[in-house]
Amino acid sequence: MPVRALARVDPAAITRNCERLRAALTGGAALGAVVKGDGYGHGAKEAARAALAGGASWLFVAAPAEAADLPGDHRVVVMGAVSEEELPGALQAGAELTVWDERFVRRLPAGTRVHVKLDTGMGRLGTRDPEEATRVAEAAEARGCVVAGLMTHFATADERGDAFFGEQLERFRAWAEPLRARFPGAVLHAANSAATLRDPAAHFDLVRCGVAIYGLDPFQEDAAALELEPALTLTSYVAAVKPCERGESVGYGRKFVAAQSTFVGTIPIGYGDGWRRGLTNNAEVVIGGVRYPVIGTVSMDNITVDLGREPWVGEGDVVTLIGAGITAEEIAGRLDTINYEITCGLTARVPREYA
Ligand SMILES: *Cc1c(COP(=O)(O)O)cnc(C)c1O
Repeated sequence: MPVRALARVDPAAITRNCERLRAALTGGAALGAVVKGDGYGHGAKEAARAALAGGASWLFVAAPAEAADLPGDHRVVVMGAVSEEELPGALQAGAELTVWDERFVRRLPAGTRVHVKLDTGMGRLGTRDPEEATRVAEAAEARGCVVAGLMTHFATADERGDAFFGEQLERFRAWAEPLRARFPGAVLHAANSAATLRDPAAHFDLVRCGVAIYGLDPFQEDAAALELEPALTLTSYVAAVKPCERGESVGYGRKFVAAQSTFVGTIPIGYGDGWRRGLTNNAEVVIGGVRYPVIGTVSMDNITVDLGREPWVGEGDVVTLIGAGITAEEIAGRLDTINYEITCGLTARVPREYA
């Protein structure tokens, strides 16, 4: 019997996506796998294991706590801010830290590996001042820390043809390349998935690929065209089938009223599982290879679909919500968001199965 909502993750697809990304890397650049946000909703540990099997040699997380308990023999970098409270845990986990502030660096124990971040235009973390960034690296070294990386992050890598990407790349290169001699142990890294796929000049020594390792398209178009395989499918099942006569309504707020008599299937998945309310009257599911429209309001625990007047569908049939031709990109487009938010948003109520 199917469970109410299930995310099936294929680790071999993540492994193949990593192999495919590695094959595209230039100049001996290494592949870093980003497993923040519980591996973009896929499960951080399993994603990390699969990525390492595919040739990734670094792992990146955002939150300090995400650095703990990752499998394998690899280096882990925390890309996000680390508060005083979080610092001991991050160091305990052996994580390397992203730094941009001299005062912060002076609080670190000797031996800590740090990646100095220049803000070349993302406007989030890092210092915009290249000279300050260099001073941070020098302060880290003076403190006995190891300057393990020099890094930046792109704001528009996923907007093909956007000129700002090239400006950021130049700013980073102008700062980081001359520092190679001064900090010979530092790896230069800048590229996320989009930059990795878009421009070999952004590869430097290491890339930080997240969304692409999960087989999702950073450009929100077509993962298959990039030879990436989606690793996650989301399924549920038909819990109930019943007639709905003309004029009868379905769901909260009566957002669907039958124009003609039909059958309605109730599927036990809803926004409490991360299948968002914005999909009200605005999505399709696949049952037995056929697409059916979602009708009425998405509620916390259920959705309803129009099965038509003579349904082929029976109770217990498997329902595919992501997979079988429905991509995370399609769902994201319906919600005016990006595929990242769709898989990331699947809640803990949805069990992850690995096969
Ligand atoms: C999330 C993140 C990445 C990975 O981005 P993708 O688009 O998922 O490849 C890389 N670098 C930083 C700093 C990030 O926050």
